[in-house]
Amino acid sequence: MTHDIIVLGAGMVGVGCALHLQARGQTVAMVDRRAPGLETSYGNAGIIQREAIEPYALPRDLGFLLSGATNRRVDVRYHAADAARMLGPLWSYYRNSAPGPFHKISAEYETLIALSLETHQKLMNEADANDLIAGQGYLMLYRTERELDSFFRVADERARHGVHHVKLTGADVAREEPSLRGRFAGAVRWTDPVAIRSPGDLVQRYAQLFGRRGGDTHLGDAMTLRRSDSGGWQVDTANGQTLAASQVVVALGPWSVQLTSRFGYTAPVIPKRGYHMHYAPMPGQPLNSTVIDAEYGYVIAPMQKGLRLTTGAELANVDAPRTSTQIDAAEKIARQSFPLGQRVDPEPWMGTRPCMPDMKPVFGAVPSVPGMWCAFGHGHQGFTLGPVTGEMLAAMMTGATPRVDVRPFSPERFG
Ligand SMILES: Cc1cc2nc3c(=O)[nH]c(=O)nc-3n(C[C@H](O)[C@H](O)[C@H](O)COP(=O)(O)OP(=O)(O)OC[C@H]3O[C@@H](n4cnc5c(N)ncnc54)[C@H](O)[C@@H]3O)c2cc1C
Repeated sequence: MTHDIIVLGAGMVGVGCALHLQARGQTVAMVDRRAPGLETSYGNAGIIQREAIEPYALPRDLGFLLSGATNRRVDVRYHAADAARMLGPLWSYYRNSAPGPFHKISAEYETLIALSLETHQKLMNEADANDLIAGQGYLMLYRTERELDSFFRVADERARHGVHHVKLTGADVAREEPSLRGRFAGAVRWTDPVAIRSPGDLVQRYAQLFGRRGGDTHLGDAMTLRRSDSGGWQVDTANGQTLAASQVVVALGPWSVQLTSRFGYTAPVIPKRGYHMHYAPMPGQPLNSTVIDAEYGYVIAPMQKGLRLTTGAELANVDAPRTSTQIDAAEKIARQSFPLGQRVDPEPWMGTRPCMPDMKPVFGAVPSVPGMWCAFGHGHQGFTLGPVTGEMLAAMMTGATPRVDVRPFSPERFG
């Protein structure tokens, strides 16, 4: 079967690309080894983060670095041998987190985040997916006055960029979330973000929209990608078909570079793994909105399957064995403050945030590989940025002018 374009990967980023390419009149086939939205785009915290106009920097204070080195923090853990192999990219990440470079990177990042809600909302309307919206806004909870005051200043700065919030005292928090047991100094309620009650289902609704509009989705291994005799691309599907196209988009999340490196392009992805577990709600003790326990770096989100606790980052190779230490540590702290009932899942889920040392996604033409494009490296905000990335890449691939300056996200900055 011949198409104009094959999109490899059906996470939020791949589906966002496929829909926008289709909207520009391209015939598109999407290939994934699983059904759409079953990897990292399935298990995240489900927040469309319009407030995240700064990417996630590496904290540079000595206290964090020393406590991180003990490998006992709740928010960041590492597998020693894997982390040692990442030292080069981590050093670059550390340098890019310094105020000067971080300011420039954030200005570039904001251009995408600013379009994240509107690009999602348009697709949600078209995909008839508004029932998946759990609510608007979420709480960034702080336990100490010092950290709260410092975050109030961050919120005021973001307000100057059109990001809205409400400041809450400890008493306000107790009023808004009466089921909390812990004593919090206060919180910032970001009011723009949208919380989704089942992130994987949102990807699937988008994929169904793609199907209704004539796109086809196939099970298959992206690693079968090869050049055709005519200089285009071929990939095999699980049911024995061969798909052909003149252009291919690699949107395999943390696995993207495994494929592009076969064609000579590599980029330093820092895999930040994360876990989740669902808990039954306690009778009569609802959680009204998604909350982040900021000083411990975990999220609790009311979801379709129960209260979903998601962890911070575990630095480990994408396919390294899972560990339960991080989710166990987060659960222990969370149980003291939040109304978590029994565990619902038989075992913790794990996914991987593909992070780049300069904290920006990578999308555009792959250098020196004619007809290959990529879209990966969305780190902590790929669920938020999938549709806007798709819009930009589709414009570039069809010779139109993207709405934002896409040069800061070019794959040419690596490789
Ligand atoms: C705990 C946690 C919480 C998070 N919370 C949020 C949040 O609240 N908001 C937010 O914006 N982001 C969040 N993120 C980040 C977000 O989930 C990711 O950035 C995003 O899902 C990446 O999407 P993707 O499409 O690039 O990758 P994925 O969703 O991982 O998709 C990659 C696809 O490639 C496929 N694939 C891989 N290899 C092959 C192969 N050989 N052949 C065929 N197919 C293949 C996979 O099956 C998969 O479907 C969170 C991440 C984690 C881990």
